[in-house]
Amino acid sequence: MGDENIKVVVRCRPLNSSEIFRGAKCLFSMVGNQTFITRPDVNDPGNAKAAKRDGIEDVKSFTFDKSYWSFDKSDPNYATQAMLYNDLGEEFLDYAFEGYNTCIFAYGQTGAGKSYSMMGYGEDKGIMPLTCCELFNRINNNKDLELTYQVQVSYIEIYNERVRDLLNPKNKGNLKVREHPALGPYVEDLSKLIVNSFIDIEKLMDEGNKVRTVAATNMNETSSRSHAVFTLLVTQKRHDTQTNMDTEKVSRISFVDLAGSERANSTYATGTRLKESANINRSLITFGKVITAFAELSSVDKKKGKKEIFVPYRDSVLTWLLKDSLGGNSKTAMIAVISPADYDETLSTLRFADATRRIKNKAVVNEDPNT
Ligand code: ADP
Ligand code: MG
Repeated sequence: MGDENIKVVVRCRPLNSSEIFRGAKCLFSMVGNQTFITRPDVNDPGNAKAAKRDGIEDVKSFTFDKSYWSFDKSDPNYATQAMLYNDLGEEFLDYAFEGYNTCIFAYGQTGAGKSYSMMGYGEDKGIMPLTCCELFNRINNNKDLELTYQVQVSYIEIYNERVRDLLNPKNKGNLKVREHPALGPYVEDLSKLIVNSFIDIEKLMDEGNKVRTVAATNMNETSSRSHAVFTLLVTQKRHDTQTNMDTEKVSRISFVDLAGSERANSTYATGTRLKESANINRSLITFGKVITAFAELSSVDKKKGKKEIFVPYRDSVLTWLLKDSLGGNSKTAMIAVISPADYDETLSTLRFADATRRIKNKAVVNEDPNT
C-alpha cells in the first residue's frame, strides 16, 4: 500500500443570530469541490480589518476533496449530516472493517460547527453516532459463524495538557501518555469499556459529554480550549474450522473534536511564546506545527532534496497520541468547518486545511495470526 494523502473536506454552517443581527453577508461560495472566499465590504463591522481596499474584488479559491454547503437548511442543496456520513463516514467504516486504523478530526474556529459535525445535537446526529450505529448494524447482520467481533470504547479530554478519562470521572488524576514499542502511544490506566450495542455507546457518549460540561466553569471556555478524542477499538476474530487457526484484525477508529482554532491563529499572529501557557493551547499549536512540518516535507520531496525535517509529535499530548493518524499507520480525514461571515478566521482555516492535504499516511491492515 502506497502513501496516501489525508482526505480533507470543508463544511460551512448557516449564519447565526448575531451575524444576522449585524447584517453579515456570506463571504464564500462552493462549486463542486472548490471553495471561494471573497474579501468583505468596508461596511461590515464584523470584518472591518479585513475589508477590501479601494473596492477591488479579491476572491481566493481552494480545492478540497469535497465542499459541503450547509449554509441554509431550507436550501435543497443543503449538505445534511446524512450526506457527510454517507460520503465520509461510510468510507472510513469500510476501512475499519478491512482492518485499518482510521481517524476523523474536526478543525475550525469556535462556533463554526465542529461538535455539530462530529457529535451532532439532538436528533441531528453527527458522523460519530452515525458511524457507531452502522458499526453495530453490520455486526448484528454478520452471518459468518467463524467471525466474532469485540468493540471497546474510550473517551478522553485534553485540557491544558492534562488527559481526563471522560468515562471514569472518578479518575481525577492527570493520566499519563506512554509509548508502547510496537503499538505506539497510549493513555495509561484509561478505561476501555466493552459495548454490545449502539444503545450502549450512546449512553457512554452522553455520560462523557456530561462530564465534560459539568467540570466546566464556563462551558464555552472549556469547549473552545479542550480537545475531545472518542475511540472505538474493533477486534474481528476469525476462527478457521478447517485449519483450526485463529486470526485477529484490530482497528482503531478515532474521532477528534479539536479546540477552537482561533487560539492558534491569534498566537501565530502575535508571535506569543508557548511558555505563557494560560491562554495558549500547546496541543493545538503543536498540531499546527506538525501539519506545517509535513507540508514542508512534501515540498522538499518534490525538489528531491534530502533535508531532514523534524516533526515535533512529542511536544504535546494531542500530537503524541495522534502520531499514527498524522503521517503514520492510519486512514485520516479532516473536516474543516468554517463560519460564513468571518473573513480572517475562515481564510486561515482554509489555508490550514490546504496544508493538511499534503500529509501522506501509510496505512496497513492490522492483522495478526495467532495459533
Ligand atoms: P463548535 O463545536 O465548532 O464550537 P458547534 O458545532 O457547537 O461549534 O456549532 C455552533 C452552532 O452552529 C450550533 O448551534 C450548531 O447547531 C450550529 N451549526 C453548526 N454547524 C451547522 C450545520 N452544518 N448546519 C446547521 N447548523 C449548524
Ligand atoms: Mg464544540
